[in-house]
Amino acid sequence: MKTLDAVVIGAGAAGMMCAATAGQRGRRVLLIDHYSKVGEKIRISGGGRCNFTNLHATHRDFLSANPDFCRSALARYTPRDFIALVERHGVAWHEKTLGQLFCDDSAKQIIDMLRAECEQGGVEWWQPCEVRSVGREGDAFAIETSRGPAKATALVVATGGLTVPKIGATPFAYRIAEQFGLAIVPPKPALVPLSFDADFLARYGDLAGVSLDAEVWCGGGRFRESLLFTHRGLSGPAILQVSSYWQRAGAAEPIHIDVLPGVDVPGWFAAERRSRALLGSLLAERLPKRFAQHWCAARGLDLPIAQLGDRALADAARELADWKVRPSGTLGYNKAEVTLGGVDTRELSSRTMEAARAKGLHFIGEAVDVTGHLGGFNFQWAWASGRAAGEAV
Ligand SMILES: Cc1cc2nc3c(=O)[nH]c(=O)nc-3n(C[C@H](O)[C@H](O)[C@H](O)COP(=O)(O)OP(=O)(O)OC[C@H]3O[C@@H](n4cnc5c(N)ncnc54)[C@H](O)[C@@H]3O)c2cc1C
Repeated sequence: MKTLDAVVIGAGAAGMMCAATAGQRGRRVLLIDHYSKVGEKIRISGGGRCNFTNLHATHRDFLSANPDFCRSALARYTPRDFIALVERHGVAWHEKTLGQLFCDDSAKQIIDMLRAECEQGGVEWWQPCEVRSVGREGDAFAIETSRGPAKATALVVATGGLTVPKIGATPFAYRIAEQFGLAIVPPKPALVPLSFDADFLARYGDLAGVSLDAEVWCGGGRFRESLLFTHRGLSGPAILQVSSYWQRAGAAEPIHIDVLPGVDVPGWFAAERRSRALLGSLLAERLPKRFAQHWCAARGLDLPIAQLGDRALADAARELADWKVRPSGTLGYNKAEVTLGGVDTRELSSRTMEAARAKGLHFIGEAVDVTGHLGGFNFQWAWASGRAAGEAV
């Protein structure tokens, strides 16, 4: 029987950070993962370049039923700390936009860096290795695996959420939480494209590929980024961002879209009041032409501006600034970047990620009900929570 200070289950972003931190503190650590390849989520992230942190990360960039929970770990391991680590390993990086940092070359460099950090901490690594059961033996945890049994004082669950099952995601963390009587905030796909009903698709489906700058809001989240029409509905950064808030607000909530943010539309229309141009042609001066045409056609507004009544124009201006759309659903875990919900943070210590009701049991990363915005925040949470647990076990 292998006896250790800590077993970390899940060798993703959070698990590798945790194992390396604990190992470098002199702890005997075993890291276990069931998948055949190491760090697949990191490898595919950020279009293959891994948006590994965000310079502006604060607790306000995360959704959680307990919004203050993430503050402590984020304050103790900041984007600057991760940048220092990346630089120590000679990984070149750049800021793309909005504080989002990417590798110049490849996400693989981040995986290699974390592997090297684990090696430096003397971490033992079983992968691929299936965890068959977790039980208690006195104060210790007894873990049965396909490579034999292991015993440890601390167990860290870092198996992530449910996104992209084909590269190894499982509900393991939720099952362990349930086994130890801990509450779960129901998981849902987030940072995910939205689908729409046949009526919406009949009007806008053939705009697939058209994008526009928009301000989008729902349930307390508001974002100004690009919006993209797709064959199934809407996507693009603005929609991915707001999808997390829509998932939390409930399907009955509409999503609000300002397709001309910062434009004084009533003033613009007033200046063009006598124009013989079609409303669609005027809108096409500031919006993609096909969108402008479809938007007007869907409302019977494909007429010269001079022929439209004051009321119709005022309604059009109002709707361009607050177009309410009702998604029918999301494209699900296969297309989502992250899982909303997870192990309820009210069960965990914000310093150590340890469950108050199960001494020695820690949950980190995406398995926990802390969900970041798009833009490097989810990795920053993985690093910070992994570090917090790695310093405690
Ligand atoms: C396409 C895509 C792109 C993304 N891009 C970015 C980005 O650029 N920036 C950003 O901040 N975030 C990004 N994310 C989100 C980010 O990848 C995750 O939030 C982050 O990886 C979570 O880290 P984690 O360690 O908690 O979980 P994961 O990285 O998912 O790791 C969990 C590990 O646990 C293992 N595991 C699962 N079940 C079991 C089990 N039963 N037994 C043993 N092992 C198990 C898995 O094999 C995996 O290795 C992206 C996500 C996706 C899907």
